[in-house]
Amino acid sequence: MAAAWRDVVRDAAAVREAAAVAVDAALLAGGLMRTGEQPHASDVVNYAPFTLLPSAVPRALFEQAYAVQQDFNLLVDAISQNKEFLEQTLASTIKVDDFTAQLFRIYMQVLEEGLAQTVFLGINRSDYMFDCGLDGTAALRQIEINTIAASFGGLTSRTADVHGLVLKVLGKTEEASHLLPNNPAKGLALGIAKAWELYGSQRAVVMFLVEEIQRNIFDQRCVENELWNRNIHVIRKRFRDVFEQGSLDASRRLYMDGQEVAVVYYREGYVPQTYDQQNWEARLLLERSRAVKCPDIATQLAGTKKVQQELSRPGTLEKLLPGRPEAIARMRATFAGLYSLDEGEEGDRIAATAIADPDRFVLKPQREGGGNNLYGEELRQVLEKIKDSPERTSYILMDKIKPQPALNYLLRAHSPLQVSECISELGIFGVYVRQGQELVLNQAAGHLLRTKAIEHADGGVAAGVAVLDTPYLV
Ligand code: ADP
Ligand code: MG
Repeated sequence: MAAAWRDVVRDAAAVREAAAVAVDAALLAGGLMRTGEQPHASDVVNYAPFTLLPSAVPRALFEQAYAVQQDFNLLVDAISQNKEFLEQTLASTIKVDDFTAQLFRIYMQVLEEGLAQTVFLGINRSDYMFDCGLDGTAALRQIEINTIAASFGGLTSRTADVHGLVLKVLGKTEEASHLLPNNPAKGLALGIAKAWELYGSQRAVVMFLVEEIQRNIFDQRCVENELWNRNIHVIRKRFRDVFEQGSLDASRRLYMDGQEVAVVYYREGYVPQTYDQQNWEARLLLERSRAVKCPDIATQLAGTKKVQQELSRPGTLEKLLPGRPEAIARMRATFAGLYSLDEGEEGDRIAATAIADPDRFVLKPQREGGGNNLYGEELRQVLEKIKDSPERTSYILMDKIKPQPALNYLLRAHSPLQVSECISELGIFGVYVRQGQELVLNQAAGHLLRTKAIEHADGGVAAGVAVLDTPYLV
């Protein structure tokens, strides 16, 4: 906890009053989500969960995370263009992981036909935790890069003002003035708008590809409205709609019921449950098209856990980004220990180490969206079971990051107000646009701080575990 909050965090009356102010302020500011009971309706909504107090973040680590974002944009973009690297890296994974294998099949099929797409748009979010060393100093450690459907760039812009108000109510007016403004949605929209412009058809629309159940619709609306403000027409469709209404013309321009689509912005499509046969066909249609996909399937594959693990091998970054030693040093400085579980001696050794000392590691399958990783005793049991089977290669191992917990209150609709020991995860949004071989935009677009109680090992805001937060730099 920021030392500054130590006096207020135990003052029950002050906390109750501040929490009431905070919830109303969040609702007023539009920090909203649809409810679990009525996930299809916007006429009954509630506030997206958030912390009562902003959380302390070491200024140096915050700045380090921003400073390395353009490097990570470059890296993801380079991986997405490197067929040999993706092929080699994912070779063992696609033998055992059907979902990655199906994505990879589409990737190869699209390459074989030849890409119609000439403009590329990346929107990613690099996530970090602050690892607490034995001497008490914190280090920035990357958890992962999300290359598809990185969310909360809209809602997070609402929390800084709410926290500013809370601090004032608690008599911390000076501290309130130090909170940073933050609006990733604007940066994301800038990238989408640039891609739309380079696509070069005034009549064409931007298509948000959305889930069947859209509880987080307001987050997406923030980006959408920024595009409407630029007079760019936005439509929202599901995979099912693409299957029913989508078509390509002779030059592989994408049409939805006769309307040309310039940019497809995926907020869906990263979990196996999304895809039945028809939705896979829809995905293939989109990937074959000339439309700018954000991300294209190569960039989605660049965000797999297996790729992340390979990046940490000595020499890999040098091969991917020749002539960029400073960028490589900045990125490598954020890496945690990552280990391959591929068949062979190296994998045998690390599997045995993890079984003997599971609390040092996290076991990760090739999945996104939270709640898939294994920890502690469960990690040990699963690894024990699969250690001699090829199934092992569908996972990677990662050093467990151990941040210093801080006290805070997690404000959630229908939940009692109680103090929790919490840890935070910082995400930096990155946006880039490439036309052919020329990178025309490469930026950090803002940040997201998410905080959860320490009893939850895994899971984000959408998974109902973490809540929105604001960094208070110390
Ligand atoms: P997902 O793609 O499901 O979001 P992540 O790799 O981001 O997968 O992991 C999900 C959550 O698990 C993270 O938000 C973080 O809270 C926790 N986590 C992941 N890796 C680690 C790690 N190495 N150490 C500690 N916690 C981790
Ligand atoms: Mg994650």
